Amino acid sequence: MTTDDTNKTKAQLLKEIQCLREQLTKKSITNSHENEERFSLAMHGANDGLWDWNLETNEVYYSPRWKSMLGYEEDELDNNFATWEALVYPEDKDRILEKVQEYIEGRSEAFEVEIRMRHKDRYEVVVLSRAFLVNRDYDNKPVRLVGTHIDITERKKIESYEKRNAEILEMIATGKPVGDIYNAIALMYEERHSGMRCSMLELHDGKLMHGGAPSLPKEYCDDVNGLEYGPSVGSCGTSTYTGKRVLVENIEIDPKWTKIKHVALPHGMRSCWSEPIKNSSGEVLGAFGMYYNHPALPDEEESNDLKSAARLAGIIMEREQSQKRIRQLAYNDELTGLSSRAHFYQNLEELIKISDRHNRRFSLLYIDLDNFKDVNDSLGHDVGDLLLKEIANRLVKASRNIDYVARLSGDEFCILVNDIVDEYVAANVAQRCLDAISKPIELSGRKFTPSCSIGIAYYPDDGENLSTLLKAADTSLYAAKEQGKNCYAFYRPEFTHKAEYRFQVEQYLREAIEKQQLSLVYQPQVDITSGEIIGVEALSRWHHPQLGQVSPIDFIATAERIGMIKPLTEWVLITACNQAIAWKKAGLPALRMAVNISPSHFLVRDIVLLIKRVINETGIIPAELELEITEGVIQTEQQNLSIFQDLKDLGILLAIDDFGTGYSSFASLKHLTIDCLKVDKYFIDDILIDNETQLLIASMIEMGHNLGYEIIAEGVETQAQFDTLKELGCEMAQGYLLSKPVSPDKISKLLSSNIV
Ligand code: C2E
Ligand code: MG
Ligand code: MG
Repeated sequence: MTTDDTNKTKAQLLKEIQCLREQLTKKSITNSHENEERFSLAMHGANDGLWDWNLETNEVYYSPRWKSMLGYEEDELDNNFATWEALVYPEDKDRILEKVQEYIEGRSEAFEVEIRMRHKDRYEVVVLSRAFLVNRDYDNKPVRLVGTHIDITERKKIESYEKRNAEILEMIATGKPVGDIYNAIALMYEERHSGMRCSMLELHDGKLMHGGAPSLPKEYCDDVNGLEYGPSVGSCGTSTYTGKRVLVENIEIDPKWTKIKHVALPHGMRSCWSEPIKNSSGEVLGAFGMYYNHPALPDEEESNDLKSAARLAGIIMEREQSQKRIRQLAYNDELTGLSSRAHFYQNLEELIKISDRHNRRFSLLYIDLDNFKDVNDSLGHDVGDLLLKEIANRLVKASRNIDYVARLSGDEFCILVNDIVDEYVAANVAQRCLDAISKPIELSGRKFTPSCSIGIAYYPDDGENLSTLLKAADTSLYAAKEQGKNCYAFYRPEFTHKAEYRFQVEQYLREAIEKQQLSLVYQPQVDITSGEIIGVEALSRWHHPQLGQVSPIDFIATAERIGMIKPLTEWVLITACNQAIAWKKAGLPALRMAVNISPSHFLVRDIVLLIKRVINETGIIPAELELEITEGVIQTEQQNLSIFQDLKDLGILLAIDDFGTGYSSFASLKHLTIDCLKVDKYFIDDILIDNETQLLIASMIEMGHNLGYEIIAEGVETQAQFDTLKELGCEMAQGYLLSKPVSPDKISKLLSSNIV
């Protein structure tokens, strides 16, 4: 205690005693016993107010300190029970009188209650009231109750502040809505400072947006909401603009409020202090405002509170902003602006529930761009991204307003086609998507015609939950791809078996090379005139212990899809070339070795390096190695075409496989140095059936010869086909008539006689 405090206490004590003396003489209280009690109670603590209640007369003595605690002078309150009744909070009154009753009847040992009382200035004062004595008459009936009042308002405020602080932290931790947290913060500071009203405004693109202000009138909040910040836009508009605290003592006369005081004054606000709310890197996120209905500047406590309130609000605003961003990232695909996979799943679950409730169907369109990887690989990812953006736009335009479009990943999109009235709705949307997507587009100066494949599955017919429905749509997408791409396919149950098989092939293929389950067979290529074997085509075979013989069509496509084609091709090349060398070493006549190369190898230049390495490692004569490539490869970009030239420069031979089934024309071939055209079995099959095909083959042979190519007929199965080809001037043939693809030792035998 300081000297000042001691003096004060002494002075109060003296005043208290003085008063007691006066009362004694004034009211002629003769009972000296009573006075002694009061005197000793007064000595208890000069800061306590005293009360003495005569239960028989309802007269109550209130000490001056008792009265001043509530803001009254000595003569301003009457000494009777009605005074207490008028000052106690009505909600507390019955509870307290009940406690009094318990105490005087001896049912409780002590009387100690917290009472909320109204100060003369109308604010709440919390007192701790204790009763010390009960005087009883001869019948043991209580006649007097004496007690003290201690002002615990401050202590209660601190307790409540701490409690509210803890509650706010819990609200933050349990993810309560941000508006509720703002309100709780405002109420916490309002409770600490009687008459104060608080507000929190968020700054969005220079505009002040309502955050929380539970005690300010809605009309005022609405008026402020959306105000542009600036150098003199009230206290909050100015503080968010300058990033500094703004204290306005009197709204009525402060120039910063000139423009907007008309929205505050009618609601009684007279002073407003604002602290900018900042995030951890000092960026202004909003403003915390404190208002009073009278002109004022903050005292030290208010000033500190303004600072801590803004800091607390800052933590919440920053957290909210980053959560918003996370939510956006999670639910929106950044590149295309469509819904993301996460949002799509959520939406799909929701749609399933609604459809179940109303017994409705909907369909899921699973869309995948055709050959998108080629665009990415050849034109780069930036161009790939541009294409994806454009595709997203086109899909949104092609679908109906009620349909929901999302990007699942890479080049995969999904559309939920809701409100299906008939079977054609989904097909119509799918067709519109195909049409929209296949419109030409210019990407970094190059014209390009994208296309996509679409799988369609119905809920609940094709899948009864999210995962089975997605699987069904994915499976039908695969079927659409197999049907030649740029089309849509409805789900059929048999697709699932195929998909399962495909999955198994994928799993086992990874270990096939390691476990040496792959082998090569060789099919002779025969000179039609002499009947001599000029070369062989190496064809891969895979025998898996469980799956049995897997068709190369299946596992080559799988290898491409799962990125295994490179090691597979390398294995084929090395094995085939080693075989050719082995035959040579065994003294068999020289022949050329044809190896199939998947189109994907031509998207990256390393095929040239690979061939170089194979030639070096195996020692094969380049002119005895022929690469078979399909027509599609020729359609690639000009820059890729130079790969052919590099390969030719190595001295190897190039053949176009399955010629006539793709889209290339002789015109597109003329830029290439090709050695051989392999006319596809598809034509040979019909050579004797219709004249047109025969004519077509004849012109292929003629034109090929004119361009200097050798012609091989593939899939020759009958002598009649063979003879016709001979007549048409075709020089080579390959097919079951001559030999099926066979093992290397069988080839040795055939070669020893060198006649098939
Ligand atoms: P392809 O390159 O056009 O090979 C010719 C296919 O026709 C072979 O099928 C062969 O067995 C078959 N064939 C040949 N003559 C006849 C005939 O007279 N009648 C009938 N019905 N079929 C005949 P296979 O071995 O099943 O290979 C299929 C395709 O798989 C090949 O077509 C080729 O594109 C691909 N392939 C095979 N092995 C490899 C490989 O090691 N690498 C790559 N990239 N593709 C391969
Ligand atoms: Mg081939
Ligand atoms: Mg072929």
